[in-house]
Amino acid sequence: MFRQITEARLNDIHLKYDEASGLKAIVAIHNTRRGPALGGCRIIPYSSTEDAVTDAIRLAQGMSYKAALAGLDLGGGKSVIMEPEGPYDRKKLFQAFGQFIDELGGRYITAMDSGSRVSDMDTIATQTQHVSCTSSSGNPAPSTALGVYKGIQATLKAHREFGSSLKDMTVAVQGLGNVGFALCQLLHQDGAKLVVTDINEQKVQQCIQEFGATAVSAEEIYSVPCDIFSPCGLGGILSEDTINQLQCAAVAGSANNQLLTPDCGQRLFDKGILYAPDYLINAGGLIFVAMTHQGKSQNEMNHRINAIEDTLLQVFRHEQQRQAPSSLIADHMAEVLLFGEQSGQLSA
Ligand code: NAD
Repeated sequence: MFRQITEARLNDIHLKYDEASGLKAIVAIHNTRRGPALGGCRIIPYSSTEDAVTDAIRLAQGMSYKAALAGLDLGGGKSVIMEPEGPYDRKKLFQAFGQFIDELGGRYITAMDSGSRVSDMDTIATQTQHVSCTSSSGNPAPSTALGVYKGIQATLKAHREFGSSLKDMTVAVQGLGNVGFALCQLLHQDGAKLVVTDINEQKVQQCIQEFGATAVSAEEIYSVPCDIFSPCGLGGILSEDTINQLQCAAVAGSANNQLLTPDCGQRLFDKGILYAPDYLINAGGLIFVAMTHQGKSQNEMNHRINAIEDTLLQVFRHEQQRQAPSSLIADHMAEVLLFGEQSGQLSA
């Protein structure tokens, strides 16, 4: 564990066992240089404590990078609850978790993540103020979609062959859930042609009717000739196999952890495809959650979301200048913000 802590440059890690509720939880605080660490609470079954610790550390690091590039005065953290095997009292579990968060005195602010629900955040809120995503907070997806839309505009500006408008450009959207559907709406308003896929046929039909989209199968979406491919469904979808199929000039979508392995960033670069690093382009949701928690105004929030476009343009400029993939450039920029000028080593 200490090797992992050192490698990830983690500030600290906290473990809690509460016998009465069965709570086994881990909070990883990656970095608080810019402010308290914010990040979701994941509750899933883990096969071992080691797996849970590894997940918490990896995810906390990702949150630090994301918050830093989003320009938030927050650090990154993450919590995981090892879901009990047998039946358990969910309310008691989250009450105990809320007490644990409160004991950390505000160094970590929790939020929703895989497996946790708005109602769980409400339960946590009965024990501590250091919680976001409660039922009074609202849905972050429209802000995520707006950030992706701004990111797509950055790819337009950065790509030599694109004009300045989305009119008549083809965008292939994978996944029409909370974010993907809202994104389609924004792109349609600008006159973009949409090619869409989702395993949920109802959502596909809605997109055809409302936005005149063309539907393709889940497998076909990778090889569709388009200007921009926008993954808004699952993570890990950019692999050697799918990158070989791509017939687009840029990849810009909301899905988390799009690159199956880190070297896929290099593959995209070698193929001349502009890649908008996922944690940068999908930061609108985090901005919404963080700034709602901080009581900031809608104007301040929009200003921050709009800034995703400029940060992405900066990443693309460095990519050209340094001939290194955007995924590495973004990591490097985040590391400089988190650890200072000397800290981020760019190794292409
Ligand atoms: P969602 O669950 O509402 O939508 C996901 C959609 O993808 C669903 O409609 C689902 O049917 C579809 N899908 C699943 N498997 C598919 C496949 N094989 N092919 C095509 N479609 C498939 O999720 P969401 O909130 O819209 O988030 C989408 C992505 O963006 C996720 O990766 C999420 O982690 C990421 N993200 C979301 C937010 C947010 O604010 N919601 C913020 C940051 C990142």
